[in-house]
Amino acid sequence: MTLALISHPDCMLHQTVSYHPETAERLSAIHDQLLASGLEMILHHYQAPLVTREQLERVHDAFYLDELYRKLDSQEQVWLDADTIMMPDTLTAAGRAAGAVVEAVDLIMEGHHQLAFCAVRPPGHHAERDKAMGFCLFNNVAVGAAHALEVYDLNRVAIIDFDAHFGNGTEQIFAESQQVLICSSFQHPFYPGSGEPKYQGHIINVPLAAGAGGAELRTGVEKHWLPALEAFKPELILISAGFDGHREDDMSELCLVEDDYAWLSEQIKTVADRDAGGRIVSVLEGGYALSALGRSVVAHLKALLG
Ligand SMILES: [Zn+2]
Repeated sequence: MTLALISHPDCMLHQTVSYHPETAERLSAIHDQLLASGLEMILHHYQAPLVTREQLERVHDAFYLDELYRKLDSQEQVWLDADTIMMPDTLTAAGRAAGAVVEAVDLIMEGHHQLAFCAVRPPGHHAERDKAMGFCLFNNVAVGAAHALEVYDLNRVAIIDFDAHFGNGTEQIFAESQQVLICSSFQHPFYPGSGEPKYQGHIINVPLAAGAGGAELRTGVEKHWLPALEAFKPELILISAGFDGHREDDMSELCLVEDDYAWLSEQIKTVADRDAGGRIVSVLEGGYALSALGRSVVAHLKALLG
């Protein structure tokens, strides 16, 4: 199996303010750990294209997109919500982040690789159809899923989201789409406030209490995610890979470690190999403790590689 890594230097250009945790150093930390682990030697690097307007409009309202570009025309710095800042290069970075997932889907669906990881920022899973929030402007993973459904005529795409925060944007975008199964696990109650428990249908939300760790995550995945995935039989799996549930990451009160991300990734790989021809596109979401982030990405990718 070969692993494609899709990124772009423009993703480093999105500057935040000095106290903001979502920094360009996150991508450097991942790169450093890929080098240190030896994984870098077996990666196939690809530069992310800019997402197109057509690709964005599959999941975002035209009015919302127009507003983003209009706001940036008139000001140097725009706060879209209390956490989400837009600077002159932000939309370029966000365009590469979403474009990376489209490129990853193309690489996987055309059979060049079975596995792709998008090392991108800003993250995406909080972005709703018409709203930026929680550091997210474009919903990268949703753009990729919509691209796969439309361009490759897929009928069943699974999105697996293990970020510590509930992916409200992804849920909202695909709330009415039976073609997308969303399996999430996240701290609850917690930001963004939504994420009610759901154990049936095409949205499976497994909340975890503050302080929960690997044991609670594994129980929830085995009881709720795996049966849903087995019944759904996805043709492609996308992952919203957030690592802010690591116990060293103070953005949440979850207590996960690298072994938990590895175990989770093994479960996803088993489903992908059984039902989806091994096709997996993993997309970086959160993860703010730099060392833990880099180590967790390595554990995640090694487990996906098998
Ligand atoms: Zn998060």
